[in-house]
Amino acid sequence: MRSIRRGDTGPGVSEIQSILVGLELLNATSDVFDDATETAVRAFQQSRGIGIDGLVGNETWQALDGARWKLGARNLFHSVPNALVGEDVRTLQERLLEMGYDTGRADAIYGTRTAHAVAQFQREVGLTPDGSCGPQTMKALRRLGRKVVGGRPQWLREAEAFRQSGPNLVGKTIVIDPGHGGSDDLGVVVPEGPLRWTEADLMFDVAARLEGRLAAAGMRVHLTRGPAPARTMTGAERAMLANSLGADLLISLHLDGLENETADGVATYHYGTGNGLASTVGERLANLVQREIVVRTGMRDCRIHAKTWELLRLTRMPTVRVDLGYLTSPLDRDRLVNPMFREQIVEAILAAVQRMYFPVERDVPTGSIDVRQLRLELAQRP
Ligand SMILES: [Zn+2]
Repeated sequence: MRSIRRGDTGPGVSEIQSILVGLELLNATSDVFDDATETAVRAFQQSRGIGIDGLVGNETWQALDGARWKLGARNLFHSVPNALVGEDVRTLQERLLEMGYDTGRADAIYGTRTAHAVAQFQREVGLTPDGSCGPQTMKALRRLGRKVVGGRPQWLREAEAFRQSGPNLVGKTIVIDPGHGGSDDLGVVVPEGPLRWTEADLMFDVAARLEGRLAAAGMRVHLTRGPAPARTMTGAERAMLANSLGADLLISLHLDGLENETADGVATYHYGTGNGLASTVGERLANLVQREIVVRTGMRDCRIHAKTWELLRLTRMPTVRVDLGYLTSPLDRDRLVNPMFREQIVEAILAAVQRMYFPVERDVPTGSIDVRQLRLELAQRP
C-alpha cells in the first residue's frame, strides 16, 4: 500500500490521528495530515523502534493499529490462522516474562508459545488452563503481576542454548542479511561524478566477502538475497527465512545516510525494549561487532542500541544489525568504496563471530588478532 503522508486527507488520516490522540501524542483530529500529525507519527515510530520517516506505511500502520489495544480491553486467545496482534499482547508477554513464564520474545503476537505460557500461569494460580486471557486471568495477573519480578527467563534460556552449542564454528549456521535490494529499494544512494554508490550494492559486496570467510571457518552461511533480487524483502520475511533455516546467528548489514554530511560513524543494534527486556546474547554480539569494527577501522563509535525492529524482534536467534558508516559522509564514503577497507570490516565481523564462540575476551585484546592467532591461543590452553 502507498504510505499515508503529510498533505493527505480523508478517513484514513483521521483514523491515524484518533489513535495518536489516544496515545497522547496529538491534541486533536483534523482530517488533514499536517505538521503536528507528522511530528506525532515520528514520535510514535521512535517509541516503537520503527524507522523514523514520518510516513504511515505498512509497518507503522500495523503498530498503530495494534496500539489501540490496552491490556484488559478485550479477551486474548490463540486465534488461528490469524493471530491476535497488539500492544495489549506485548504488555501481557512482558508481564509473563517478568514473572518467569516463557512466552518467547515480546513480539506482540498471541501465538502458541504465548498461549502455553498463559496456560502454565493459569494452572499455577488455580484457574482452568485454557491458554486464553479473559477477565479472571486478567484479575490474577493484576494481583500477582507486580509482586513477582525476577530473572528474564527467555534470555537466560537463550544464553544457555548458546553456551551448550559449544565453542566451535564448524557446523553452525549463520545468516548474513545485506539490507535492501530490489529495483525500487537501493537504500541510501549517493551519486559521485559519473558513479552512483548504493547501500544495497555495497552491503551485498560485504555480505559476499563475509560469506566466503565464514564458510572457510566451517560455518554454514546463507545470504538472505542475491545481488539483484526481483523485489525487496520485508524485515519479517528475512526473519522468517532465518528462523526456517534454524540459524544460530543473524547479522544484518546496512549503511546510514543523512542530509547533514558531517554525520559519520558505525552503530550496532540488538533486540531490546525500553523496559529493560533485552536479548543478552544479541547484546553481547552487538558489543563484539561494534568494538572490533571501531578498534580495527578507527571509525567513529556511535555505540550499540536496543531496538524492537521487525528483524530483531521476529528472529529466534541472536540477531544484530550493524550500520557500517554513513554513505552521505565524505569521510566514511571514501573508505567504504575502497574494497580493501570493506575487507577490513569483514575481518572485524569475522573476529567478532569467533569471539562469540571462543571465550577469550580477557586474554586477547580487541582488534589485535586474526583468526589464525585466535586458534593458536586456544590450542595452547590446557
Ligand atoms: Zn539500510
